[in-house]
Amino acid sequence: MTITTPLDQLSGDIWINGNFVKWQDAKIHILTHSLHYSGGVYEGERAYRGKIFKLEEHVERLQNSAENMLLKVPFNFYEIIEAHLEILKRNNIDNAYIRPLIFRGSESLNMSNKMLSSNLMIVAIPSLEKLQKDLNIHISKWRKPHPDALPPQVKSCGHYNMMIVALEEAKALGYDDAILLDWRGYITECTTTNIFFVKNNQLITPIADAFLNGITRQTIIKLAKELGFEIKEKYIELNEITNYDEFFLTGTSAEVKFVASIDINGNKKNFEENKITKLLQQEYANLVHK
Ligand code: PMP
Repeated sequence: MTITTPLDQLSGDIWINGNFVKWQDAKIHILTHSLHYSGGVYEGERAYRGKIFKLEEHVERLQNSAENMLLKVPFNFYEIIEAHLEILKRNNIDNAYIRPLIFRGSESLNMSNKMLSSNLMIVAIPSLEKLQKDLNIHISKWRKPHPDALPPQVKSCGHYNMMIVALEEAKALGYDDAILLDWRGYITECTTTNIFFVKNNQLITPIADAFLNGITRQTIIKLAKELGFEIKEKYIELNEITNYDEFFLTGTSAEVKFVASIDINGNKKNFEENKITKLLQQEYANLVHK
C-alpha cells in the first residue's frame, strides 16, 4: 500500500456486527441514518507489533460515548475487545490504525424510530510511518461547542463536523491545523489532538472541561510526572502563548508532535525549542512498543 491508495481499495476483512466481511463488500445503504444525521460514535486506536495500546480504555470510551448519545451498543465490553483482537489476527497486521464505529442503520429516515438498528464495525488499517514536519498552526474562528450543547468527553461524529471545517479552513490558509477556543475564549485542543506547552521544567496544558481528555494526553501527563516534570492544568488564554518555549500535540494517531509556529491573529510566534518534547516523544515511543 502507498500513501495514495484510497482506503476503500484495500483488501482484507472488516468486522461488522459479528461477521467478517470482505473489504470490497463492506458497504452500507445510502439511507444510513448516521450518514444523514451524524449521531455515530467512534474510536481511533493503534496497534504496535500486534498489541493495541490502551485497548480497554478505548473500548470503555466507545461504550461511554454510545451511552451518552443514546446509542445501544450491540455487543458487550468483552465481545468488543475480542473482535478487535480477531480483526488484527485475521488480517495479519501488526502495526495498525484501528477504527471501531457504532452507527444507526438505514431502516428509517425518521429522527427516531423503533426499527432503527445500532451497528458496530471495526476495521484495522496498516499504519504508515508519518514523518514529523514543521507544524504551523493558527486559531480557528470556530469554537468548541459548550459542554451543555455536546458532551466534550464523547467521541461523537457530531464533534467532527466543525473540526473538519476548521481543518479545511486552516489548510486553505496554508496552516497545518487549527486551535479551537471554548465559549470563554480559553484554548481547548486542535482538530484531532490535545495541547501541551512547556516552560522550563513545567508542562502546561488546558483543563479538560470543554474538550476531549485524550488517552494520549493522560498517558503523557503520567509519563511526564514519572520523569519529574511538574504538570500545570490551567485555563490558558491566547496572550499567554508567547511566554512558552515549546508547544506539542498529543493523540493516538499523531502520538507526540512538536509545533513550529502559531499565528495568533496575525502575530507569529516561533517555537525554537523542542528538547522536552523530543524526550517525551521518545518515552512515549518506548511505552507503546513495550
Ligand atoms: N482531541 C480530539 C478532538 C481528537 O479527535 C483526539 C483523537 N482521538 C484527541 C483529542 C486525542 O485523543 P486520544 O489521545 O485519545 O487519541
